[in-house]
Amino acid sequence: MDGLVRNLLDAFKERLEQNEWMDAATREQALLKLSTFEPRIGYPTKYTDYSTLAISPDNLFENALALAEFGWADQIKELGKPVDRERWGYPPQTVNASYNPLLNQITFPAGILQPPFFDPAADPAVNYGAIGAVIGHEIGHGFDDQGREFDEKGRIRNWWSDASNAAFKVKTDKFGAQYDAYEPLPGAHISGQLTMGENIGDLGGLQMAYAAYHRYLDQTSGGKAPVIDGLTGDQRFFLAWAQVWQGKYRDDELRQRLETDPHSPPYFRINGPVRNLDAWYDAFGVTAEDDLYLPPEERVRIW
Ligand SMILES: [Zn+2]
Repeated sequence: MDGLVRNLLDAFKERLEQNEWMDAATREQALLKLSTFEPRIGYPTKYTDYSTLAISPDNLFENALALAEFGWADQIKELGKPVDRERWGYPPQTVNASYNPLLNQITFPAGILQPPFFDPAADPAVNYGAIGAVIGHEIGHGFDDQGREFDEKGRIRNWWSDASNAAFKVKTDKFGAQYDAYEPLPGAHISGQLTMGENIGDLGGLQMAYAAYHRYLDQTSGGKAPVIDGLTGDQRFFLAWAQVWQGKYRDDELRQRLETDPHSPPYFRINGPVRNLDAWYDAFGVTAEDDLYLPPEERVRIW
């Protein structure tokens, strides 16, 4: 995981350095922000002490109240003290990952470090396409439509020049329009605006992870990936991304999420970003005959 995170950060740094739509001053600020990213992997350095919390095996309601009170007291005791950067907002067994713009930290708890996201014994193409793209997604939150308003110290400060700001907006408007057009249920569309930050995270994450995977191949095997089960490295990379977002909702749940969830439905988290990556077209021989085909000029590349 340390190696994966390092390669993702290096890949993003390289992409920022080669970025053509940011001016030099904004690019410098973006690189500064990236340099202060703090990854937290697996478990906290300091655990929450639950010894004062009384839990009984036969009273769910009292337990819920006791836990709420414990959580409240745990937060109140931090009041008036300096910010504790070692605190975790959730326990390490959680299957999730997060970015905190106020602290510029990305967190990957132990719970997500298992298949289908991560397996130390798995083919690297799969790890880069799965947890690699999730790492990239969280890094991307530092530079999405909301995260980009925070600077390298977590302060809300506009470090964007007007020109770079306008260029970012042109790209994200075009990208958001792709999602507005998706109709997961008859008459119910994704909101490109509501899901913007998460979609930017997915697109940037996949782009960063793809670049990182190829950095890894360059470092270890002269850029070549083996064919496994008849699949090329790039094919396995994209299939791994699809595997982590397998999911199923009842129509009512899906309809509610389209109104309230800042994430696009899983099916669109897979297909939405990939059709913007040239490498995906090459990997599977996708042509204008295919449903997900986008002409090159309509593909959005932010990072
Ligand atoms: Zn996210």
